[in-house]
Amino acid sequence: MATYIEEQLKYCKKCGETTKHFRNNSKSSGFMLLVHLVLTVATTGVWLVLVIVWKILNTKIGGWKCSECGS
Ligand SMILES: [Zn+2]
Repeated sequence: MATYIEEQLKYCKKCGETTKHFRNNSKSSGFMLLVHLVLTVATTGVWLVLVIVWKILNTKIGGWKCSECGS
């Protein structure tokens, strides 16, 4: 899985202003998609549900870091 830095302007409570925020994100490679596909078939769809839940949790929690104060 290749990781890349995602960048977005967000309001920081600590700084009290809108600052640049960064977070690491991962892009699924073609190989990983194939692995997911095989596992989805092997687990009769259970794997796909787990991956979707994991993706949703990852997006919701965020992991954004303020470029000014690092929080
Ligand atoms: Zn900040």
